[in-house]
Amino acid sequence: MRRLACTVALCAAVLPPATARAQPAATKTLVLLNANLIDGTGAAARRNVSVIVEGGRIARIVDGRAPIPTGADTIDVAGRWVLPGLIDVHTHIATLPSMRRALESGVTTVRSASVPAYQDVGARELVRRGVLPGPDMLAAGVFVTPYLGETAMADPRLAPFAREVMSPDALRAVVNINADRGVDVIKTRATERAGLADQDPRKQVYDEAQLRVIVEAAAARNLKVLVHAHGDEGAYAAVKAGAHSIEHGTYLSDSTLALMKQRGTYFVPTYATVVDLTSPGGDYDEPPLRVRGLHMLPRLGESVRKAHALGVPVVAGGDTQYGPQSVTRIPHEVAFFVDLGFSPMDAIRSATAVAARCLGIDQRTGTLVPGKEADLIVVERNPLEDVRALQDVLVVVADGRVALNRVPFGLGR
Ligand SMILES: [Zn+2]
Repeated sequence: MRRLACTVALCAAVLPPATARAQPAATKTLVLLNANLIDGTGAAARRNVSVIVEGGRIARIVDGRAPIPTGADTIDVAGRWVLPGLIDVHTHIATLPSMRRALESGVTTVRSASVPAYQDVGARELVRRGVLPGPDMLAAGVFVTPYLGETAMADPRLAPFAREVMSPDALRAVVNINADRGVDVIKTRATERAGLADQDPRKQVYDEAQLRVIVEAAAARNLKVLVHAHGDEGAYAAVKAGAHSIEHGTYLSDSTLALMKQRGTYFVPTYATVVDLTSPGGDYDEPPLRVRGLHMLPRLGESVRKAHALGVPVVAGGDTQYGPQSVTRIPHEVAFFVDLGFSPMDAIRSATAVAARCLGIDQRTGTLVPGKEADLIVVERNPLEDVRALQDVLVVVADGRVALNRVPFGLGR
C-alpha cells in the first residue's frame, strides 16, 4: 500500500494533468558558474569555466571571468565538477519511478535491453515530448528469445510464437513486430541466464545461423542487435553473426575477444550486476545465485581486463530495472572498471563518450562540447582523483532542463 501511494505520488509529480501542453525542451538560457569541467572527449580537465546552455544544448563554454548572458538562470556550482550525463546502455526500465531513479543517479540516456510490454517505447515518447524530464531512452521492446513467456501478451501478433521462437520465420517475425512497434534496437540472446538458478549461463540457445537471421532481419529495418551472452560458444557465434554488442561476456575466450576487436564489437560486461549476485539484497537475493556469482565474478573481471588491454570498446551498463530494491548504478560500474585497471578518464568515457558511440548517438550527446545536448551532471569532488565522486550526484541537467539540483541544500566549503 505504501509502495502504491509512493508510486502514485511520483506519477503525479512527473505527469502534468492531461489538459496541460507538453513541455518543449528548455528554451531559457542556463549557466553553470564556477565549474571545473571534464568534457568527456578525453581532453584534460578545465578549471573555472562557465557552461552556457541555450535551447537545450551546450552553447558555449567560456572562462569563468567572461561575461555571461543577462537574464539567464544560473547555478553556482562553486568549484564542483561538471561531466557529461552518464549513459546506461543496458537497462530494463518499465516504470515512471524507475525513470526517476535512473535520472537522479546521473543517468541522462539509457538503452533498454528489453521490457515486457513496450514500456520503453512509451517512455521514450514521454521524454521526447517533455512530459518526463528524462532519461532519453533507446527502446528494445520485447526480447527475441526462444521462449517469450508472458511477453507474448505485449502484442497480439506475438501469439503464434508464444511457445517457441526458433525457426527463421519465427525469428524474423518477432524482429519485425518489434520494428513495427518502433524500437531503436533488437535484443536477443546467445546463452541462458545467470540470474535464474535453474539455467546455465554457459549454455548456448541460438546458433550462429539463427543469430544471423536475427541480425539480417534487424538490419533490413535499420536496427542493430545487442546479444546477451555469458558462455563463450554463444558469444563467438554472436560476434560472427554480426552482433553490435555482447552483453555480460563472462566467459569470453581470447579468440572471441580478438574477433570482437577485429569487428569493432562493443562489450557491455554489466559487472556491477554480478557483484549484486554475490551480495545480499538488490535485484538478486538468492543463495544459489550468490554461489554462482562468486565464481563468475573473477572470470568476468578477467574478460574485462583483457578486453580493455586489447582495445575492445568496453561500455557501462547496469542491467537493472532501477526498481525500489535495486542497488546497481552506473557510477558503481565505472568504479569497478577503475578497480579492474582502467584509468579514471577511460572509465568515465565508458559511461559517456564511448557509450554514446556504441548507441550511435555521439553526434548529439556523450561529450560536453558546443552544439551537443545539454546532458550533464555535477559532482562534489574531482572524479579523476577519486572516481567514487560520481556516486554522489548534486545536479542533473537533461536536454537543458534541471532534473535535480541539490546545490541549494548547501555544499559546505
Ligand atoms: Zn539484462
